[in-house]
Amino acid sequence: MKFELLQLEEDRIRFLLSGVSAAFANGIRRACMSEVPVLAIDEMGLYDNTSVLFDEQISLRLGEVPLRAEDLDLFSKPEECECGGTGCPGCRIEFMLSSEGPGLVYSKDIQFADPGVKAAFDKIPIVILGEGEKLVIEGFATKRVGKDHSKWQAGTLCGYKNLPSIEIKDCNGCKKCVEVCPRNVLVMEGDRAKTTNILECSLCKLCTDACEAGAIKLTPIMDSFVVSIESSGTIAAKELVARAAQEIKARAEDLDAKLAELS
Ligand code: SF4
Ligand code: SF4
Ligand SMILES: [Zn+2]
Repeated sequence: MKFELLQLEEDRIRFLLSGVSAAFANGIRRACMSEVPVLAIDEMGLYDNTSVLFDEQISLRLGEVPLRAEDLDLFSKPEECECGGTGCPGCRIEFMLSSEGPGLVYSKDIQFADPGVKAAFDKIPIVILGEGEKLVIEGFATKRVGKDHSKWQAGTLCGYKNLPSIEIKDCNGCKKCVEVCPRNVLVMEGDRAKTTNILECSLCKLCTDACEAGAIKLTPIMDSFVVSIESSGTIAAKELVARAAQEIKARAEDLDAKLAELS
């Protein structure tokens, strides 16, 4: 397998994987979306809510706020915690949200008992409180995975596509392919078309359809994939992919051990 980093930002990563199957690339994508455990608000008690929103709407909004932990490994999933899942600071992070209007309540107003945990983004609006309106909530965040509920989905936009191969022969310089390409993958060099940023090609085939001379040969490279992963903000994109790979590795080792027991 060959790995080439194409783009790295805090919340997104794009890389080229070569020498792997589509199933492997898809496994990474799926693990980023559903197997990497992160924190989300899961349980709460509303002691006062005189805002215009129903309790259920407030709960839904709080549950969808991405949470960031300085060290995610300090916390366990409830069923894996040494408390046996009954609830302790290792698997339930207490929070409090107390606000009085007038004003907008934001995600940054959620105060966690653990100073290493906070909303990933400060300015997610929760509710507008009018004069004298109050919101008082206490509850807990827990660590789970995206397949339990989308609020724990660490990877949001996760996808992959085959790396294309584009060959241009016997071009007559009509420029039609350059004009139709929606991603500016093709340019004219003198009186010939040539590829430029091939990584942007979506294999849409508009260029081959437009080329009356049949000069373009467009084929997907079956064992090379451009993988794009975007994080919800709960975890850095680079760490998300690393943890997804660890999850796949752990399962493969588990399967290997079970098969070894049979032989
Ligand atoms: S397949 Fe689509 S994106 Fe790729 S070069 Fe042709 S027109 Fe552009
Ligand atoms: S459409 Fe075909 S012939 Fe025209 S410039 Fe593109 S490759 Fe060349
Ligand atoms: Zn516990």
